[in-house]
Amino acid sequence: MAHVVVVGGGFAGVWSAAAAARVRDTADLRITLVAPGADLVLRPRLYEPDPERAAVPLKGILGPIGVEHVRAQVQEIDVLGRRVVADGSPLAYDRLVLAAGSRLVRPDLPGAERLFDVDTLDGARRLRARLRDRDGFTAVVVGAGYAGLEVATELAGRGRVVLVERAGSVAPELGFGPLPAIEVALDRLGVERRLGATVREVRDGGAVLDDGSLVPADVVVWTAGLEASPLARQVPGERDGLGRLAVDAHLRAHGAVFAAGDVAAARMDGDHWTVQSCQHAVPMGKTAGHNAAADLLGVPLVEFAPAPYVTDIDLGAAGAVYTRGWDRRVALSGAEGKWVKRWLMEVIQPPVDDPAALLGSAGVVTTPVPF
Ligand SMILES: Cc1cc2nc3c(=O)[nH]c(=O)nc-3n(C[C@H](O)[C@H](O)[C@H](O)COP(=O)(O)OP(=O)(O)OC[C@H]3O[C@@H](n4cnc5c(N)ncnc54)[C@H](O)[C@@H]3O)c2cc1C
Repeated sequence: MAHVVVVGGGFAGVWSAAAAARVRDTADLRITLVAPGADLVLRPRLYEPDPERAAVPLKGILGPIGVEHVRAQVQEIDVLGRRVVADGSPLAYDRLVLAAGSRLVRPDLPGAERLFDVDTLDGARRLRARLRDRDGFTAVVVGAGYAGLEVATELAGRGRVVLVERAGSVAPELGFGPLPAIEVALDRLGVERRLGATVREVRDGGAVLDDGSLVPADVVVWTAGLEASPLARQVPGERDGLGRLAVDAHLRAHGAVFAAGDVAAARMDGDHWTVQSCQHAVPMGKTAGHNAAADLLGVPLVEFAPAPYVTDIDLGAAGAVYTRGWDRRVALSGAEGKWVKRWLMEVIQPPVDDPAALLGSAGVVTTPVPF
């Protein structure tokens, strides 16, 4: 029986598997998802006070649609032999979807082992355990991109927060659109900023900045920089500065290999590429999974057609700022932006123990965010 193997159990992997199962219908096709964890981890929720809410059991998603879950880590992709090696065991495929995501780039600096993060479920659990029952703590948050802003503004409700950013302003990659709303929120929440600065050492009692000053702190949370899974290097083809594999309009990376989510870079239009975000990982997963199965079953392939780009940054008790378009024009802020953020955090979760709803949502037609 022909075999589609999906590597990765994040947004891209889960939706790839669901889309492949949707195309399969009653045809003979085996679909296997390989990922080490038991859960789909909703990474955008890891900054929230209860990280357990970000874990969705894969069993309730994959089991009811007849997708096998192999709990293992892939070490090797053999594109010529059409097989992967997972925890030492080979697994043959006819079509592969690489959806192994991204990870935080950990800095090489003295005391780096003391850093906390909100990149993984374990990282978020460790941070919460450290801050539990410690009201009045001081946290240094390194990096003022979306993840840094979300964790800083969430922690600001409970302690003193110092946000350290190498660039001359916060939210450097978001441009000028949402900047005023973010600055107002940081002022309102009392988040201190050290701009044009970075951390050169982490000690037990705090962070040493590059000007030699010590910021005493209970925790130092590193959020700066994501890189694609190193598995991307094992597939022939072009890679961008984040290590992402370039894919074509069908999300094919090479021969029998498709790629989706944070590990892949697809063209959005003539000027823009996908960004590492769940809003792109979900439709990329659906497209790659559909095409991997369609390629084997003689069904027409579809082109990646993402919905218009939006962002929504949670700013804790100051609400959220929601933008539309690549120039990130602010559409909603404060309580209204927060309402949309909450809605987005609900809709990113795939249906559990409801195969009809899951397969019904796994079609590749993308609907724009209705706000
Ligand atoms: C704190 C934070 C906040 C964020 N906020 C937002 C937001 O507001 N909006 C937004 O759109 N995006 C946000 N993101 C980004 C978003 O989480 C990612 O873009 C998204 O998770 C990418 O999905 P993915 O499936 O490609 O990869 P991932 O979620 O990284 O999943 C990768 C999967 O592959 C598995 N895997 C990895 N290596 C292997 C291997 N060798 N073998 C087998 N399996 C493997 C992993 O275990 C995991 O199951 C945020 C991220 C973080 C960390």
